[in-house]
Amino acid sequence: MRIGIDLGGTNIAAGLVDENQNITVRGSVRTPRGADDVVREMEALARSLCEQAGLRLQDITSAGIGSPGSIDTVAGTVIYANNLGFENVPLAGALAEALGIPVRIGNDANVAALGEFHAGAGKAFDSMVLVTLGTGVGGGIILGGKIYDGFNGMGGEIGHMVVKKDGAPCTCGRKGCWEAYASATGLIRLTKAALEKHPDSLMASIAEEMGRVSGRTAFRAARQGDAAGEEVVAEYLTYLACGAANLINLFQPAVLCFGGGVSHEGPYLIERLLPLVEDELYPVGEKKTALRLAELGNNAGIIGAALL
Ligand SMILES: [Zn+2]
Repeated sequence: MRIGIDLGGTNIAAGLVDENQNITVRGSVRTPRGADDVVREMEALARSLCEQAGLRLQDITSAGIGSPGSIDTVAGTVIYANNLGFENVPLAGALAEALGIPVRIGNDANVAALGEFHAGAGKAFDSMVLVTLGTGVGGGIILGGKIYDGFNGMGGEIGHMVVKKDGAPCTCGRKGCWEAYASATGLIRLTKAALEKHPDSLMASIAEEMGRVSGRTAFRAARQGDAAGEEVVAEYLTYLACGAANLINLFQPAVLCFGGGVSHEGPYLIERLLPLVEDELYPVGEKKTALRLAELGNNAGIIGAALL
């Protein structure tokens, strides 16, 4: 039995994970401010999970933490995490000391990819790239069953490859990053621009009825045959396909997996994306990368952390 901890800016979620990658007991708490209190809460959570399962800490093989930000996975340190206010926090070592078991730490996006690979959409494949389409575009590269994160642990920032030179500004300082176009944020920007052009469209009435413009607005309109919605979805998908084809050309992973908010569009997303991606692929013959939806949702972070 192992412990997986998904450390987020709002909540800390954790679970006991068995040999078959099932979460047997879970719990969560609000994320406190300050590193010492975060370690204390993680320790309390781990102890309470063990208690619920009738286990002692000595029965636990190891624990893992998925954390936002830049992580030194070798030293076990959060180098920088903006939303936690962390700078050079030796999180893994502090929790290992508190619990008396080995603790590893990884970047949350990479850790989620590891979980999805071993227990979710990647289970039947030998390599995978996970693309998470949320507020930003995150993800992780899994090669040989392990996270590929470069020589310094900072690799796998798939959202920050440029898909449009001198394009829309990105939070990282570059222009035209994939994240600026393929994230839910990018989709909302495209949707708002189209709403200005087409104030009488079905999409406009859907936006009004929903009370706000979200990543779902254009997809809902397009599914109902609205021309303005279709225009937004078609443009969005060209950007999504461009980055997806780049990743496939680079890594030829056995599966490219999509998670995050936009992936809730489900099979419709994959069906529409597939021909656009295939148009842009470097020719490889019969053995083609599969496109799949992520299966584990938020559980990927807990399971992946336990696998560290
Ligand atoms: Zn960027």
